[in-house]
Amino acid sequence: MTQIWHTNTQQSNQAQVLSELIQEADAILVGIGAGMSAATGFVYTGPRFTDVFSDFIEKYGFFDMLQAFIFDDWESPAEEWAFMSRFVALNYFDQPEGLAYTQLKELIEDKPYHVITTNADSAFYRSNYDMTKVFRCQGEYGLLQCANQCHEQAYPLNPTWNQEMIEQQSEMKVPDNLIPHCPKCGHHMEINKRDAIRDMVEDPDFHRQKARYQDFLDEYLGQKLLLLEFGVGKKTPQFIREPFQAMTQEHPELLYVTVNQRLYQIPDAIKNQTVRLTEDIAPLVDKTYQMSQKGDASFG
Ligand SMILES: [Zn+2]
Repeated sequence: MTQIWHTNTQQSNQAQVLSELIQEADAILVGIGAGMSAATGFVYTGPRFTDVFSDFIEKYGFFDMLQAFIFDDWESPAEEWAFMSRFVALNYFDQPEGLAYTQLKELIEDKPYHVITTNADSAFYRSNYDMTKVFRCQGEYGLLQCANQCHEQAYPLNPTWNQEMIEQQSEMKVPDNLIPHCPKCGHHMEINKRDAIRDMVEDPDFHRQKARYQDFLDEYLGQKLLLLEFGVGKKTPQFIREPFQAMTQEHPELLYVTVNQRLYQIPDAIKNQTVRLTEDIAPLVDKTYQMSQKGDASFG
């Protein structure tokens, strides 16, 4: 372990490690991937998926909601929106509060912090995060972009409109008059999301989010910055994992903590600045949160 951080990261109580590291940090950068939402109950498989999409599963053989969400071979925009309207209601408009998100916010909010997430659900809104501190680098389920990407502007999807698409669809198609259309070119709209070939509409708000993230890094790189990575998978390492590891290698004051049950290879160069926490995310955050509450009581 580095000489810069004093927390004993070898102790077996992982909640204790996390709690002490948060206290010791000058600032905290949190990276949140799909594993965090899954751990909080927003899973993309099982009854949560099969109860809502049995017709689409039967037609296309989807095995989870992510595969269906990034599917690009819909019969028509009417069919795509029959799926998406239900998806967005489930994972955005009607998504309940996730306890781990709320507890995490309370654990870090007394320190300077910033979040970068590849998640596009509404978990941060539901837990009342200061959204100027959350960089949603992969878009949001509640935003629309022109499917031709003819211009760089995302638009909020109206929840009432979305509900109408759910209620008025039949045989897996929404009525043509409910398909959202681009105000510039008239092409149909799609969810604001990135794909490997067409990338994504990045509008002025996206660039403001990106600039605030960069401002945070400019301010705190070089200090005792704690990088906390929750549930980042291997599908898109270029947004969180690779930059986090590169920053760690470049800045010896950084400590990089991965909270992930799946162990993945850590480059040799940053092994002495890396702490792996392997407990399930939700119970780990809960234990750490309970510990901080007890601490408040005994010292307050
Ligand atoms: Zn357009």
